Amino acid sequence: MNGNLLGQNSNAWKGGWTVTKHGYVQVYARGNPSSNHRGYIFEHILIAERILGKRLPDGATVHHVNRNPADNRPGNLVICQDNSYHQLLHKRARAYEAVGDPSALRCGLCGCYDNQPDMYVDKQGYAKHKACLSARAKKLVRKRLGLAENSPIPKKAIKKLCVECGIEFKSYPSTRQLFCSQFCKNKYQIGKQRNHSLKKEGGHE
Ligand SMILES: [Zn+2]
Ligand SMILES: [Zn+2]
Ligand SMILES: [Zn+2]
Repeated sequence: MNGNLLGQNSNAWKGGWTVTKHGYVQVYARGNPSSNHRGYIFEHILIAERILGKRLPDGATVHHVNRNPADNRPGNLVICQDNSYHQLLHKRARAYEAVGDPSALRCGLCGCYDNQPDMYVDKQGYAKHKACLSARAKKLVRKRLGLAENSPIPKKAIKKLCVECGIEFKSYPSTRQLFCSQFCKNKYQIGKQRNHSLKKEGGHE
């Protein structure tokens, strides 16, 4: 398209709107502070700003609930304060579509969805099955010791796996170490306390 021909003079003029290759609708609104150099603004931004009564704050994004980027009916739009919240909505939508439970987490190792108690969630929010982690750690230990697949691992080597996440320790201290990190230690203790209080609550029923 000819960059010198803008808006109504452009070859691509379709009555003031256009659809991007990703399916988003752009409308012609020269003069709108949120419009780009060609005078176009994403329709979902335009509508969100109309609802909000002002420009979207810096970093805010707009989510399409039914994930159709061209469906800009106000009820289909959710204003997200930042991209990480927006990504969370997508993560929950994917989980809901996969297993019918928006809070299910996807294991980064086997790709299956599951519920939190069976998963280890790291600081970045990535989830892995505890069983998958420990299987991977055992595989690494076997490889390091030159053992065949599924062969038993000496107790001593098992001791070098983190009790919380099952990851093999990076360094090999001579004393018994339980956790790969302070993070895992804290997590393990919080989990223990929670189990303890759950048991207590259960006892009163
Ligand atoms: Zn979205
Ligand atoms: Zn898994
Ligand atoms: Zn750990």
